[in-house]
Amino acid sequence: MRVVFLGTGTSFGVPIIGCQCRVCQSENPKNKRLRSSVYCVEGDSRVLIDCSTDFRQQALTHQIDRMDAVLFTHNHADHISGIDDLRIYNLVHHRAIDVYGNENVIDDIKRRYDYCFSPVQIGGGVPQFELHRADAPFRIGEIAITPIPVWHGSMEILGYRLNDFCYVTDANKIPESSLAEMRGLKLLVINALREKPFATHFSLAEALEIAKALQPRQAYFTHISHRLDHEDINRTLPAEYQLAYDGLTVDLD
Ligand SMILES: [Zn+2]
Ligand SMILES: [Zn+2]
Ligand SMILES: [Zn+2]
Repeated sequence: MRVVFLGTGTSFGVPIIGCQCRVCQSENPKNKRLRSSVYCVEGDSRVLIDCSTDFRQQALTHQIDRMDAVLFTHNHADHISGIDDLRIYNLVHHRAIDVYGNENVIDDIKRRYDYCFSPVQIGGGVPQFELHRADAPFRIGEIAITPIPVWHGSMEILGYRLNDFCYVTDANKIPESSLAEMRGLKLLVINALREKPFATHFSLAEALEIAKALQPRQAYFTHISHRLDHEDINRTLPAEYQLAYDGLTVDLD
């Protein structure tokens, strides 16, 4: 499987509009973080995890010309609000796109994007989705997908395991039963907001602790704020557990 990091930033993105801090002013492209999302390719299957506010720009940069399914972790705006730009794939594939999320996400998509589901609006102008509740393992082509429940403050959201790759973002707690589903990974991607603890997101130390406990072959941290300078932080981390950056591509054999 190939995993492409389309964005690795927190909800503001990095740089933050108007911020004069060292990381926001940095010229290192690895300190420029669009909103978090990954694109996964396995055989003929193309799966997006989250459709960020920056999706259009990400799709153009990475020439994403096909899309079989979109997996949503949760309904916060930075993870969902690129959804209208998915409609081009309806035209490419001549069918609705399969969209997966927990009950909360599915209900919210119907409410917030009600124009997509209005009978008078069907046509090329609005995206067409086939909504699915991700409450049990399922497959997209050659990818076996397991939804992984995790906590984001008081909100239960989903991570996803796709074959030997697991993606967890915006979590601050992972139940034992979910950790049990995350063993034997080739690649773990997990959120690390900043060095200081935060109410609804793992800190870098907390994310590192989970990586060390699960022992994936490689772990990358994502959903990173402007408080972490890419090179400074990565120098302090082991080579197998590093901050991700936009455009990073990992090929798993
Ligand atoms: Zn987020
Ligand atoms: Zn800043
Ligand atoms: Zn969130």
